[in-house]
Amino acid sequence: MTFKNRTAIRLSDGRELIYFNEEPHTHRAEYPDTRHLPTPPPASQLRYDPLVDEWVAVAAHRQTRTFLPPSDACPLCPSTPSFASEIPAPDYDVVVFENQFPSFSDRIKPDEITSLTDLVPVRPGIGRCEVICFTSDHNGSFGKLSPSRVRTVVDVLADRTLEMSQITGVAQVFPFENRGVEIGVTLHHPHGQIYAYPTVPPRTQQMLRAADRYRTRTGGDLYTDVLAAERASGVRVVASNEHWTAYVPAASRWPYEVQLAPHRKVPDLPALSDEERDAFGPLYLDVLRRFDALFGKPMPYISGWHQAVVGEGRELGYLHLQLFSIRRAADKLKFLAGSESAMGAFINDIVPEKAAETLRSL
Ligand SMILES: [Zn+2]
Repeated sequence: MTFKNRTAIRLSDGRELIYFNEEPHTHRAEYPDTRHLPTPPPASQLRYDPLVDEWVAVAAHRQTRTFLPPSDACPLCPSTPSFASEIPAPDYDVVVFENQFPSFSDRIKPDEITSLTDLVPVRPGIGRCEVICFTSDHNGSFGKLSPSRVRTVVDVLADRTLEMSQITGVAQVFPFENRGVEIGVTLHHPHGQIYAYPTVPPRTQQMLRAADRYRTRTGGDLYTDVLAAERASGVRVVASNEHWTAYVPAASRWPYEVQLAPHRKVPDLPALSDEERDAFGPLYLDVLRRFDALFGKPMPYISGWHQAVVGEGRELGYLHLQLFSIRRAADKLKFLAGSESAMGAFINDIVPEKAAETLRSL
């Protein structure tokens, strides 16, 4: 399933921008980028931490990125005669472009592997970082999108997953949205990001190990069995429809956390059927509405699509959306303090069954 009506252009610094148009005769290629932008910064480097067996990206150029600009200088709004934004056209449906301040980039040579010491190899941060704007409405939010626009967004993320998976050296594609200044959002305009990582991130490695161990021990499939158990029990289910179930994980780490899981195990967004893509929007919008209703104000959240990796371990991976908030009360946020930050050991103040019950009642 490829996206029917897309127009790719180059911004003045060579970065790619793609319009994903919902109307058949829309192109938008006729609007050039009139800005004189400097050459994009070099990508980050990845340093290996031998003490914890993890790669860490170091991207110094990101310190200078745009921080909460006024709304008439929003880089994600369509361009106007008086302000040239990142998007040259006067309007758009959904648009994707390469991040001006990328953590990972495919503009660098893949062979520049060096080392700091014998134990600390350093490799270039090959990959790609894109920004996705869900709507041209500066004051909108994902929760206010129509189900048909959410369907377009799912199709766009599938398109990007397929294409970014083909970049040499990319190990995993991760689309996500950060919402709210409490999360650290630096632009108010509703948008998400898509990261193509050159290494399998730690959390994914952990999940692949768990799925592998479960298969060895039981012969079963971890994703299928967990989802079946949650649906059978029902105590942590928030909402569901024919193709998806939204439930609070039994051992959730965050005060409010919901997984949206397709009933059919699939590796990634491109593998979703037409019907599954259509059914996602109404359920996700319902869960986002419940999130905002929790404390009667916009809920800060992180929402991310976990997908199968590109290479080794792909058969163990599975698609699901993880949505969670750091707000634990109307005026309280959960901070990642000593136990979580230093030890990676989470302590959740909200009982998951209670969180599910509250979300169900809204
Ligand atoms: Zn804007």
